[in-house]
Amino acid sequence: MRVAVFSTQPYDRRFLDAANADNRHELVYFEPHLCAGTARLAEGFEVVCVFVHDALDAGVITQLAAHGTKLVALRCAGFNNVDLAAAEKAGLTVVRVPAYSPYAVAEHAVGLMLALNRKIHRAYHRVRESNFALEGLIGFDMRGKTAGVVGTGKIGAIVAEILKGFGCTLLAYDPYPSDACKALGVEYVTLADLLARSDIVTLHVPLTPQTKYLINESAIARMRPGAMLINTSRGALVDTRAAIEALKTGKLGYLGLDVYEEEGDLFFRDLSDEVLKDDVFARLLTFPNVVVTAHQAFFTRNAMQNIAETTLGNIDAFAAGKPLANRVGTNLVK
Ligand code: NAD
Repeated sequence: MRVAVFSTQPYDRRFLDAANADNRHELVYFEPHLCAGTARLAEGFEVVCVFVHDALDAGVITQLAAHGTKLVALRCAGFNNVDLAAAEKAGLTVVRVPAYSPYAVAEHAVGLMLALNRKIHRAYHRVRESNFALEGLIGFDMRGKTAGVVGTGKIGAIVAEILKGFGCTLLAYDPYPSDACKALGVEYVTLADLLARSDIVTLHVPLTPQTKYLINESAIARMRPGAMLINTSRGALVDTRAAIEALKTGKLGYLGLDVYEEEGDLFFRDLSDEVLKDDVFARLLTFPNVVVTAHQAFFTRNAMQNIAETTLGNIDAFAAGKPLANRVGTNLVK
């Protein structure tokens, strides 16, 4: 099939080309995001292959359908950037990569916890400046701390497993509790209870209208003073302005983000020669107890290979008229 690959980075191309080494599909790479202004690039392509910042709203979906596109192949797990109702109405099939490596994201979330706790980001710079003083770098033992996992699907369950290894007490909030987590000894509680009892809160729920600003001013008010908040899921789960106010008062002791609500204008690009125009993001970067990575939690070789192979497999199945195990529809949104 002819596939228009949007938001292409050099690494996408390397892994997708390897998965399509027999050239069974014609992959054409476009660097821009898919949006109303770029949808015409997809003219004549039966498949568009997109990532997290491609905006498939109703207008773009209508344009794609009119240009002959039949399949939207997401090369990510989250599908909050696709208007699924509009896709169904336009007769567009949507597939995704539900689990390319939950370990990649879970391990990165724990990496952020350790970096913040042991101040590795600050220690790195100090040592390079020959500043070997320890004042200001004190951390805490993870063992015995209470960690609250919000969303115990594939990624959250692995975070729980890793933190269990550290000797943390584990709380979780999820309307669909996981048997594996229960077997680990995870205690399922309400979100309010989790926030009130956790030293570390880590978010692993999808972004939906129900979860937008799940962590807002009132949620932060319920948290333990000086608690750590980690978000590797989707930026808009956290009201960044409320988080900044809480960092200023010390209510929030640490913030680790791999995602940011306005990241679409920033992430996956080298903007180092430009002035940073987002004042909220700029303020975040001034805090010594904030670590931000630019949506890289998924970015391991294993994950990239799985993403490419599953995406090509999804397209193979669609081309052959086979059942689509990784199809996303409005009926699948919890
Ligand atoms: P998953 O579908 O396996 O698990 C999500 C869990 O959240 C489910 O158990 C579900 O019951 C629960 N949930 C849904 N709505 C909820 C709510 N309102 N309150 C509490 N729990 C709720 O998904 P996953 O593979 O674990 O991925 C989680 C999220 O991580 C994805 O939606 C995606 O946004 C994000 N993600 C980020 C990266 C990255 O690179 N930073 C990579 C992959 C996924």
